[in-house]
Amino acid sequence: AGARIVVVGGGFAGASCARALGREAGNLAVTLVEPNARYTACPFSNAVIAGLREMDGQNFGYEALRRTGVDVVTARVVAVDAETRRVRLEDGASLDYARLVLAPGIDLDLGAIPGYDAAAAAVLPHAWKAGEQTLLLRRQLEAMADGGLVVIAAPANPFRCPPGPYERASLIAYYLKARKPRSKLIILDAKDAFSKQRLFEAAWTELYGGLIEWVPLSGGGRLTAVDAATRTLTTEFGSHRAAVANVIPPQRAAAVAVAAGVADRTGWCPIDPVTFESRLRPGIHVIGDAAIAGAMPKSAFAADAQAKACARAVAALVRGREPDEPKLINTCYSLVAPDYGISIAGVYQPRGGLLAEVEGAGGVSPIKAPPSFRAVEATYAMAWFRTITDGIFG
Ligand code: FAD
Repeated sequence: AGARIVVVGGGFAGASCARALGREAGNLAVTLVEPNARYTACPFSNAVIAGLREMDGQNFGYEALRRTGVDVVTARVVAVDAETRRVRLEDGASLDYARLVLAPGIDLDLGAIPGYDAAAAAVLPHAWKAGEQTLLLRRQLEAMADGGLVVIAAPANPFRCPPGPYERASLIAYYLKARKPRSKLIILDAKDAFSKQRLFEAAWTELYGGLIEWVPLSGGGRLTAVDAATRTLTTEFGSHRAAVANVIPPQRAAAVAVAAGVADRTGWCPIDPVTFESRLRPGIHVIGDAAIAGAMPKSAFAADAQAKACARAVAALVRGREPDEPKLINTCYSLVAPDYGISIAGVYQPRGGLLAEVEGAGGVSPIKAPPSFRAVEATYAMAWFRTITDGIFG
């Protein structure tokens, strides 16, 4: 066999990269290390929370990846030695690599908001990693009485899935309007602007009247403390007592990135925009949410695009060739209602040491469009999810 490439993390970024590496010339030996036997995807998990979809549709296995020749090891990486090019697994075993690709996603910064620790997250779910947290938030909404106050606390940039909190607010509003119409939803935001804001706000007025209230940073949107026992969320401007509270805390690259020495003081991983190789540790590449990918948002679409570009670069580097400059695409779809989709798209390329947006490419859905247009975009969103998960896990 050729050079061994070890990929850490079997999410959109890592699983896609392992699959793409297997297709590269040069007879690479590819090992994917992931602690979970099944992957639970976040895209469309907001629809699960709103009762529009079941959790089964979010889960994917690694059988197809194994059949392509990737060695999938079910384990957690606990240490990385960049000098000897070796990763250590939880059970003490180790793996040598010629090049390492880290795709571990995010850790939630429990401790950033006073009162919001792991125990509080069991009462005030973040639901920002799909799985049990997703179902917890759903059950809390189902159990809530009509007339209750739902609060979503959204973090400052950068964070996983910039439009995600607002898609979530939309779909929860859809559920409340149908089932608990006297209820109200407040978004407490740690910033003054958000992704696709004009589209979301116009749609909220059109579909949900005054049900959703967005409180920006400058209006007192930033959380200063939470009290899980009373479900009280405090800001500089006062307190909100919620019936259901979804606290999305700040985030950073997952712990293994810190252990490998590839995260900087921001908590994220600086990379070369052509090869995705770490600026801090040679031989280690970082892709997906953990990376500082310049203007690219932290999305599954972006993670998959970075994974494929990184696989090409890694294959070129191990063969001693010059990697090509990549062009990467991202599209983020959001559902405002089951038959109402909106999107934002961009094209990115290396410029000035970062991934920069290509001027004039991409854009957002039109602010004025007939319902049929929004309905078609909702079908595109679903088609995108089927295509990306099929391409990686199918
Ligand atoms: P992850 O998907 O988190 O995968 C990381 C993997 O690494 C995990 O499987 C983890 O177990 C593994 N790992 C971590 N540490 C270790 C270790 N030490 N050893 C081994 N393995 C490890 N994106 C879109 O494009 N479209 C959407 O519509 C969309 N909707 C979203 C909705 C919500 C509510 C949320 C929260 C996110 C959404 N996203 C969406 C964003 C998307 O989920 C992320 O951007 C994407 O999952 C990033 O992929 P990743 O591979 O970097 O990280």
